Amino acid sequence: MTIPYRHEPFTDFSIQSNREAMEAALEKVSGELGKDYPLVIGGERFVTEEKIVSINPANKEEVVGSVSKATRDHAEKAIQAAAEAFEEWRYTDPVERANILFRAAAHVRRKKFEFTALLVKEAGKPWKEADADTAEAIDFMEYYARQMIELAGGKPINSREGESNSFVYTPSGVTVSIPPWNFLFAIMAGITVAPIVAGNTVVLKPASASPIIAAKFVEVLEEAGLPKGVVNFVPGSGSEVGDYLVDHPITSIVTFTGSREVGTRIFERAAKVQPGQTHLKRVIAEMGGKDTVVVDDDCDIELAAQSIFTSAFGFAGQKCSAGSRAVVHEKVYDQVLQRVIEITESQITGNPEKAETYMGPVIDQGSFDKIMGYIEIGKEEGRLVSGGKGDDSKGYFIEPTIFADLDPQARIMQEEIFGPVVAFSKVSSFDEAIEVANNTEYGLTGAVITNNRKHIEVAKQKFHVGNLYFNRNCTGAIVGYHPFGGFKMSGTDSKAGGPDYLILHMLAKTISETY
Ligand code: NAD
Repeated sequence: MTIPYRHEPFTDFSIQSNREAMEAALEKVSGELGKDYPLVIGGERFVTEEKIVSINPANKEEVVGSVSKATRDHAEKAIQAAAEAFEEWRYTDPVERANILFRAAAHVRRKKFEFTALLVKEAGKPWKEADADTAEAIDFMEYYARQMIELAGGKPINSREGESNSFVYTPSGVTVSIPPWNFLFAIMAGITVAPIVAGNTVVLKPASASPIIAAKFVEVLEEAGLPKGVVNFVPGSGSEVGDYLVDHPITSIVTFTGSREVGTRIFERAAKVQPGQTHLKRVIAEMGGKDTVVVDDDCDIELAAQSIFTSAFGFAGQKCSAGSRAVVHEKVYDQVLQRVIEITESQITGNPEKAETYMGPVIDQGSFDKIMGYIEIGKEEGRLVSGGKGDDSKGYFIEPTIFADLDPQARIMQEEIFGPVVAFSKVSSFDEAIEVANNTEYGLTGAVITNNRKHIEVAKQKFHVGNLYFNRNCTGAIVGYHPFGGFKMSGTDSKAGGPDYLILHMLAKTISETY
């Protein structure tokens, strides 16, 4: 039985009052930028000399804020604080734990526009994308809180005569939560509150490009009544603090979302039993994608073009679910390609603070350089039909870029670019389309645009991705509606926002009492 929850509605910015509220929030947030946030360990604040500085990717001059940078000593203190807090938190009534999440969700909802404005500043998200990120953060809190209440009594099992059996879920221990910068609110909040509501304590190491929203979220949790030490905030370098936290013998779970490279490193390191370690660690690793929109010959051309466009260029293609490949049947290839070019070239790109902007910058110089490098590769491998230019003078802006006529094995058809670049490949049958769609090492999301019922059934069986969508874009999963996670090198398929997610953070215990 699921306790009903309807997802947080998206804000309609065509309504004047919402536009005004968002403009006012941007102004307010602009006036509050540049603050410095401390580490939080066992409820205590620590300020370090060295800082991680968060800048606005649309305007490199603007400092969003800075956070203290943790050392290994801080990481050790954070693990110890989390271990100490665990001894009480683990026995706290699950309903009480859930109530803290409900209160935190209510707090974010009250200040929704301000949080959304901060995401515009810190990640360069256009309004719509930032609003969806805030809504998803609220959804994770509401959904996992309800799920914990449901799981609190365990699950029914059989009992024989003279015996009483029960099956319950118990907390696991200290969890290290390592989020990416792209869903800087939603994923960060989701992988923090899921272990917490399950009765674990958390050491949160935020992404270095987006630590400010994480610092603010830790404050929200504290205000909602989370006891000291249940969440500990230690921004720091991945290789220094990240490795230390992952390797620590007390760490019980590592919950990670990010690149394949870092995810596999964590997976390997966590598998090694360290001196003094008394348990095996669990790793929840959600990693990259190379996601495909398949277009069949019998399809709605406009829907196909809109789906490719939205999948490729939402948040400048910086989504693990971004549809960076369009595999299109030869009968409709030219028409679909032409229409995607038209839609793309009619959109406004640039400053994400403006209501009308569809696409803003990419996150930082490293990403800018990497994506521009892939655009050069694309020029060798395929035919550039739209975009292709970048400008990093003020912010990290890259045009939405479309390449046509790619070989399915081309690098830009195989490697995750994580930017506003889509590659088109032509196929001569639906079977071939599915074969191409499956030909990468990833298996995260995919979409099929078709009117052919038989082909829908074929794709359901053969298109090997964690999230498969028909006649829509391959991005935009909603908590509770589209549990999210991938196959193959896209990760451990944990299905965030799904019915099985919380139990990954708990130890199932069988109790048998003989009368
Ligand atoms: P990233 O792997 O560079 O960083 C992710 C996190 O890992 C950051 O907090 C980073 O500081 C930390 N980190 C880096 N080195 C570490 C180490 N040695 N030990 C521990 N932690 C370390 O990824 P990113 O650039 O932040 O995010 C983009 C990637 O995330 C893309 O590949 C994208 O596909 C993926 N992603 C996947 C999902 C999903 O659900 N599958 C969702 C969002 C993003």
